[in-house]
Amino acid sequence: MESLKGKFDTVLFDADDTLWENERFFRAAEDKFIELLKDYTTADGVQDMLWRKQEDNIPLFGYGSKTYMIGMTDAAMDLCGGTLPEHIYYGIKKIITELAFHEFTLIEGVEETLQALHGKYKLIVATKGDLTEQLNKFRISGLAKYFHHCEVMENKDEKNYLELAAKLDMDPSKMLMIGNSVKSDIVPVVNIGGLAIHTPHEITWVHEMMDMPESDRIIEVSSIKEILDYLL
Ligand SMILES: [Mg+2]
Repeated sequence: MESLKGKFDTVLFDADDTLWENERFFRAAEDKFIELLKDYTTADGVQDMLWRKQEDNIPLFGYGSKTYMIGMTDAAMDLCGGTLPEHIYYGIKKIITELAFHEFTLIEGVEETLQALHGKYKLIVATKGDLTEQLNKFRISGLAKYFHHCEVMENKDEKNYLELAAKLDMDPSKMLMIGNSVKSDIVPVVNIGGLAIHTPHEITWVHEMMDMPESDRIIEVSSIKEILDYLL
């Protein structure tokens, strides 16, 4: 694909696992949960139950660690036969507290990339998840100085992106989205006429897994710094 210079004036970035590490902390929490419940069933049994409960709870309560706490509690309740032992409940609470206050790690190359684009494009964060958690991460990331706006979206489907385009007063065909999730950052943006650059991350959440569709409006790079080859 040829250079995108001059074709876009706004660039949108996903946050979790695009700007900063996220999924690996959820995986670590899941491993601790499996360890906590290992006397009740197999590791796969714990994982399946947790995923089922998450699927029930996310549409009701959204993404983030508080919903994970509810999902773990529901899963443990079922696995323990309808009575939740005190040590299991407090074990879950400890896992979630460690998850919510994990060390903050920017993804390699992010700061230099944003520095290079700052002043040349209007940069927007388009993330989804728990509002307080996402805004907190944005604040402690130290990246706010590069961005014009941080939008915490309820979800990331076509409708949500069209609403975001309207809010930012931009034509959807002028939307350029950078992110790690094919399902949330790439497919919906391409479906509304925008362009997307996929910056893969080694770990992808099971709920985000989707095959990459064929499209001349998708660019695949291997690291975030490579987007500069197209944008500068
Ligand atoms: Mg992401």
